Amino acid sequence: MSLKVYNTLTRKKEEFVPRDKGKVSMYVCGPTVYNYIHIGNARCYVAFDVIYRYLKYRGYDVVYVRNLTDVDDKIINRANKEGLSTKEIAEKYIEAFHEDTKNIGNESPQIEPRATEHINDMIKTIKCLIENGFAYEIDGDVFFEVQKFDNYGKLSGRTLEEMRAGERVDVDERKRYPMDFALWKSSKPGEPSWDSPWGKGRPGWHIECSVMSSKYLGMGFDIHGGGHDLIFPHHENEIAQAEASAGKAPFVKYWLHNGFVNISDEKMAKSLGNVILVREILKEYEPNVLRMFFLSTHYRSPISYSKGNLDSVAVALERIENTIQRIDYLLYKSEEIAGTSASEIEEFREIIEGVEEKFIDAMDDDFNTASALGVIFDFVKETNLFLEESQKNLSKKNRDLLRPARDKLVKLTGVLGIKLREKEIAGELPDELLDLAKNIVGQEFGEKDAALSALTGAREKAREERDWVKADLIRNKLASIGFALKDTPQGCQITFERK
Ligand SMILES: [Zn+2]
Repeated sequence: MSLKVYNTLTRKKEEFVPRDKGKVSMYVCGPTVYNYIHIGNARCYVAFDVIYRYLKYRGYDVVYVRNLTDVDDKIINRANKEGLSTKEIAEKYIEAFHEDTKNIGNESPQIEPRATEHINDMIKTIKCLIENGFAYEIDGDVFFEVQKFDNYGKLSGRTLEEMRAGERVDVDERKRYPMDFALWKSSKPGEPSWDSPWGKGRPGWHIECSVMSSKYLGMGFDIHGGGHDLIFPHHENEIAQAEASAGKAPFVKYWLHNGFVNISDEKMAKSLGNVILVREILKEYEPNVLRMFFLSTHYRSPISYSKGNLDSVAVALERIENTIQRIDYLLYKSEEIAGTSASEIEEFREIIEGVEEKFIDAMDDDFNTASALGVIFDFVKETNLFLEESQKNLSKKNRDLLRPARDKLVKLTGVLGIKLREKEIAGELPDELLDLAKNIVGQEFGEKDAALSALTGAREKAREERDWVKADLIRNKLASIGFALKDTPQGCQITFERK
């Protein structure tokens, strides 16, 4: 199967054919740096980080550009509120943005252009739009004339009349049509400004993205991403500006948009006061948990945030990590006995060999991370069944499959940017195991892992006999020397961390 992506522009899933064979050019709208990022922002950056990683995993040479909007009304307002300059505000929140996105495990894009460093390019494009008859200047402001661009509305699928009815537009009487939007804004005293043919001012938000994306990626680049809320007007306007100034189409081949994050079934919005910052969540949850929470739903669908949902994800994540630890324990274990039956070994070998293809099938279907995680969890389940058998009947043949199974788990979760906590049982098990086994089981053991097996076996027997005091005693004694025992439907899981 080949990679298919849902294109907002055509409203269907299409086969992904990049402009240049083997290469992918991708642009994602970055933050306006006036505040810390919230989970709605984070979802977008994680979604496109996974898309970026997956394209690389599929062998594409990817150029990923994500801008920083460092001039905007919101930044000016924030600067006034915090008593800092707009530049100081931008620097402060750019640093915070980098911290937060790194903490949630995202890779950095290769190019991160800042709007304020591309003002001349924007002025050039605006001049070109005026010359081509798509824009007009009034009192130092420049507007794009939407009626001049035939395809205005092609991304959002709305006619000008529908947009007019659907949007509350502050009608600026000077505009030729209410939906005309600003390309250049004259500055008020004290605001950041640049010289231009229309006097001192600053660019509008939409022109930034058109100019910076086509500057680094050229016209007709492959993927333009962003949140669903950017389709209109931001991305609609980007298309109009880029195609009208270049005199050719398309500006972008595939438009990808991620869905909203809902909180208690309400859309998250500043006006509702239910904005949750990434750094607040990371005080309570591991970054992997937040990441896996996003990936547990397809990126285009809405997702419901709640602590309960994060808690369930944390438990699921632990399941993968426990499996890795169980493998590590058996890899360390030196004693080999009868071994699992040949057919079981063969069956598990096929499962290991087939898992990556299933993962690719899921991801090739418009980056369906929810299905891809399903594939990983099915694999964890199969691996646990095999581990059960191996714990009872460990042989070289069993052991030879454990390392490849472990490698697949680490590799596939890694493609999704989930970095598993790996605590390999390295070196010696603690000497105290021998004494403990002698005291509790009443038998001398030469090998420490045999002593451990005897102890967990004794605890199992105590539980069967409903001798909870003894079962707890064994658990607590083992805990005191670094072993954690956890009873799961798949059996007792043992993890070890050196004290
Ligand atoms: Zn943008």
